[in-house]
Amino acid sequence: MITINHTHNPDLKSWVEAANEKGCDFPIQNIPFAIFRRKGSNEPFRGGVAIGNQILDLMALNATGHFTGKAATALVSCCEATLNDFMALGFEYWSALRHELSAGLTVNSGDQAVLQQCLVDMAEAEYDVPARIGDYTDFYTSVHHATSVGKLFRPDNPLLPNYKWVPIGYHGRSSSIGISGQKLHRPAGQTKAPDAQSPQVSPCKRLDYELEVGIYIGSGNELGSTIELDNTDQHVFGVCLFNDWSARDIQAWEYQPLGPFLAKSFASTVSPWIVTQEALAPYQGQWSRPKSDPQPLPYLESAKNRESGALDMELEAYIKTAKMRDSDEPYEKLSHSNFRDSYWTVSQMVAHHTINGCNLKPGDFFGSGTQSGPTLEEAGSLMELSNGGKQPITLANGETRTFLEDGDAIMFKGYCQKQNSDVRIGFGQVVGYILPSRY
Ligand code: MN
Repeated sequence: MITINHTHNPDLKSWVEAANEKGCDFPIQNIPFAIFRRKGSNEPFRGGVAIGNQILDLMALNATGHFTGKAATALVSCCEATLNDFMALGFEYWSALRHELSAGLTVNSGDQAVLQQCLVDMAEAEYDVPARIGDYTDFYTSVHHATSVGKLFRPDNPLLPNYKWVPIGYHGRSSSIGISGQKLHRPAGQTKAPDAQSPQVSPCKRLDYELEVGIYIGSGNELGSTIELDNTDQHVFGVCLFNDWSARDIQAWEYQPLGPFLAKSFASTVSPWIVTQEALAPYQGQWSRPKSDPQPLPYLESAKNRESGALDMELEAYIKTAKMRDSDEPYEKLSHSNFRDSYWTVSQMVAHHTINGCNLKPGDFFGSGTQSGPTLEEAGSLMELSNGGKQPITLANGETRTFLEDGDAIMFKGYCQKQNSDVRIGFGQVVGYILPSRY
C-alpha cells in the first residue's frame, strides 16, 4: 500500500530554485517521468524527471554511477527510449528511485554537484510518447458525461441499465496515440443525417475533444489471473492528461451495436509527463456511491477503495483559434472538472479489466472517459457545452463554436493541490492542433 512519506512533505524545497515557486507544476514533491531529448537533435530519446523548469536527464545520471541498489536498477531501465522496462519493474523500484531523486534534489543535498550536471532546460526539450502502448482501453467513468451524451443520442433512454454496475469501456487503437503537439487532420468517414435516406462520405463536421485522465499500467498480470481491487497500487504506474479526439457525426452512425470505431481511432493525444501513483497519494480521498444507486459487486468493493479511491485532480480545457493565434491572444478556458467526480475509481477499472483473466502488460494505457462534472461549466466536451451543436458557445473575441474548426488548438492542464497549500502536483499540458481534411 502506498503510504505518505517524507517525499510528500510540503515543506521540502529543492536547490532547483524554480521548483520552489508558487504555482509551479513540478515541485520536488512531484517528480514525474517523461521521455525526452534536446529539440531538433539526434540525441537518443531517454527518460527524464521534471523539477521546476528543468529536466533531470536520467541517462546522464545513470552514467555517473551514483545510485546503488534498486534505485540504480531502476535508473538503468530509464535509459531506454520508452519507459516500458521501468514500468515493468514494479512499485518497489519506482519508489526506490523516487526516494533517491527526492533526496538528491533537496536543498543541501550532498549530490547536488553530480545532479546539477545532468539538468536540461525544459525550454530546450522535445518529447515522445513515454511508453510503447500495446493495448489501449477507453473507459466511460463520468456518469454526468454518460447521461448528457446519452440524452443526445437516445433522448428517451439516456443511461443504459448496465452503467451503474459495469465500468463500461471499449478497446481503443494505440497506433494513433501521439504526444502533445500532435497535429491531426480532420478525419473523413461515413455519416448519415437523421432525415437522410442514406449515408455519405465526407470530412467530419462535428469534431470534438474529450477531457480525460490517462492511466499507464506498470507491472502486469498473467493471462488467466486477476488483479484484486486492493492490490492495484502494485500495477498502476501513473497518470497523465489525455485528449481523446472524437468525430461525433461518424460516431452517431457507427456506434451501435459494437461501440466506437473510426470515430475515435484517427488520433488521441497524451501529455509528456506521467505523475506517479506515489506522488498522488496525498490527493487520494473518499469515494462514495449515492445510497439510491446500486452498490458495487464484491470484486469492485472494499474499505480501502471507499477510503482513498477518488483522486482530487483538477482538469481544465482551453481553446486557441487560428484568429486568436494571429492576433496573439492567449488560450481561453472552455471548462473545468475534477476527476474525483468519476463514478468509478482507477482501482475499479483495473479490477474490472482483469476479472475475466485478461492480461495487462507494462505500458498498457487506460483513458478514464470524458470527465464532466454535474454542472454545464464542468462539461468535458464541446458536444455537451454546445448541447449537441444546438447552442453555439461565444468566445471572448466574438467567434462562436459548436464543434472544432480547422486551425483550432485545444490544450488541457491538470493539477492536484490542497486548500491552503502552495504545493501543486501539476501535469503540465497536452496540446493538439486541427488541420484541414485530406479527403
Ligand atoms: Mn473517450
